[in-house]
Amino acid sequence: MKISSEIQDSLELKFSRLAQQKNNEGEKMISLGLGEPGFQTPIAIIDAAEKAMRDGRTRYSDPLGIKSLREKIARKLNDENCINANADAILVSPGSKMALSLALGAILKPGDECIVMMPCYPSYLPQIKIAEPDAVIRQVNLDKENFKIDLEYLRSIICKKTRVILLNFPNNPTGRMLHSREFNDLCEVLSEHDMIIISDEIYEKLNHSGVPHLSFGSQSILKDRVITINGFSKAYSMTGWRIGYLHVPNKSILKITSRLQQHLNTNTATFIQHAALAALDLPNANIENYNKTLKENSSSLEYLVSKSPEVRMGSSEGGLFAFMNIKATGLTSDDFASRLLVEQGVALTPGVQFGQDWDDHVRVSLAIDNKNFQEGIARINKFLIRNREVK
Ligand code: PMP
Repeated sequence: MKISSEIQDSLELKFSRLAQQKNNEGEKMISLGLGEPGFQTPIAIIDAAEKAMRDGRTRYSDPLGIKSLREKIARKLNDENCINANADAILVSPGSKMALSLALGAILKPGDECIVMMPCYPSYLPQIKIAEPDAVIRQVNLDKENFKIDLEYLRSIICKKTRVILLNFPNNPTGRMLHSREFNDLCEVLSEHDMIIISDEIYEKLNHSGVPHLSFGSQSILKDRVITINGFSKAYSMTGWRIGYLHVPNKSILKITSRLQQHLNTNTATFIQHAALAALDLPNANIENYNKTLKENSSSLEYLVSKSPEVRMGSSEGGLFAFMNIKATGLTSDDFASRLLVEQGVALTPGVQFGQDWDDHVRVSLAIDNKNFQEGIARINKFLIRNREVK
């Protein structure tokens, strides 16, 4: 396989692994590093998986996924996202990461240009290069203060070679959501060109600000060109189960993603697809409690930021994260994260892992229980005070 030297190990795990190791050695570590909920999968989902296995749902399934799950996902996309979806335009994959990879593999040709907003989920750039080593990545930096998109700049880099734009709202790592005005303005720019829009909506249900989530696939002017990616990892605390999906109205792209799936995975584990059916039946209360925890953690972090002169932060609205500006500490993001881990036992993720220009930020996960989060905040506060004294 022609694999570019730009593809390196996934560094997102580094600090959380170190934290886990120290935890095992008996030190109490607080992990605010990983992009996964610190909660257990709801028991109804575990029961459904067990029942499916006992009922013999242990064989291959249709490569696109079991029909009942695709039908339920289609209903969800219609009801919650206003996407005119149909079960035959859905492919269930082992994780939304794989859905993304299949979509990119189905679309890209040598020389195609892909637009990515920076900072971004660390797997986007390697995934593009794995799908097509000779693709050209055009990076659009979000505004450092409020993480907004410079639409004029975006417009200026779109050209005949632009094949794909990758969008992710609620966003990892910034926690930003698109407000309706910005969403409409962005849709207008996207409507001026016939590129494919890949909309990664994995964090849509994690919304602690009340800002409504808007799906690009719902827009009549764009919808035939939108591939919507989603999954179960975040909303249902199912990261280790590996299940996600894509919705693609374009039949020829779907056909290629299905072929790739047939040869790479055959299908997503059949009993896990049955468990995902149970996830979609869960009452909303589960998600509401989760969002309540995220909101409280986000407020605690905002309070810390308001009291600490050397850190700043655009407010987190959705998803699992907040992205904190640490420029005034005088530390690189890697030094900040390493020293915080060693001196105070708190793991978070250096901003540089989300893009070279973001070494003045660190990503903080909000997805642990309030008590441990408070302790994490108190330790970060101590770290900031000590760093201030040393300076
Ligand atoms: N997209 C984004 C933006 C993510 O943050 C993640 C997980 N960290 C994924 C996709 C992959 O999720 P999954 O577990 O469904 O593969």
